[in-house]
Amino acid sequence: CGIVGVLGTHEVAPTLVEALKRLEYRGYDSAGIATINEGQLDRRRAVGKLVNLSDLLVHQPLAGKAGIGHTRWATHGAPNVSNAHPHKAGPVAVVHNGIIENYRDLRARLAEKGHDFDTDTDTETVALLTRHFMQEGHGPVEAAKLTLNELEGAYALCFLFDGEPDLLVAARKGSPLAIGHGDGEMFVGSDAIALAPLTDRITYLEEGDCAVVTRTGVTITDAHGDLANREMRTIHMEN
Ligand code: GLU
Repeated sequence: CGIVGVLGTHEVAPTLVEALKRLEYRGYDSAGIATINEGQLDRRRAVGKLVNLSDLLVHQPLAGKAGIGHTRWATHGAPNVSNAHPHKAGPVAVVHNGIIENYRDLRARLAEKGHDFDTDTDTETVALLTRHFMQEGHGPVEAAKLTLNELEGAYALCFLFDGEPDLLVAARKGSPLAIGHGDGEMFVGSDAIALAPLTDRITYLEEGDCAVVTRTGVTITDAHGDLANREMRTIHMEN
């Protein structure tokens, strides 16, 4: 339902929760964040209001300067902790808005290859597929792009990878996603309003776009895999 991503210069956990709060108005049943803490992916998830996630983070803090966050409105799988995003498979964490329509086929293919499932969600197949492509020897960006080629349905996705504290991969098809440009920081949000206190420089992804985001900028390719030039706008939002 709501997506945020941050490549920051400070600890990102509070920033992620703050940005998710700005998307609360859309409704949600659970929430979670993942960061890269000393090179390793780690995550915290909680059912119910964001305050539950904040409370959890007080008792089990999450360090790191790169992270992704999500507020979930369950479509596939009950609203419980294990179905809450971010979903993780080995070196891949992902947050997802929308529905992967062919997730049953993908699950069957993954099961045939010996992959196990921890959740009832359509989204977990995205993490598992990406891990599968990485196990075949592809780098994170290539693995994410190969995964996108397999997906049917509507999605906004944001990926974070083990050992890659300077990388987010974001993709949009049928569900909006915006990139925010900071000073030495970069952001991703399903709605620019999530990023309002962080930056007013926004690039909206178009249908089929895939964005490779690093701390120095963003490279966007279109649905055909060709380099795309998307305008950066300065937008005015109420804080
Ligand atoms: N289909 C996904 C799920 O049920 C994402 C739902 C959403 O957009 O929050 O977990």
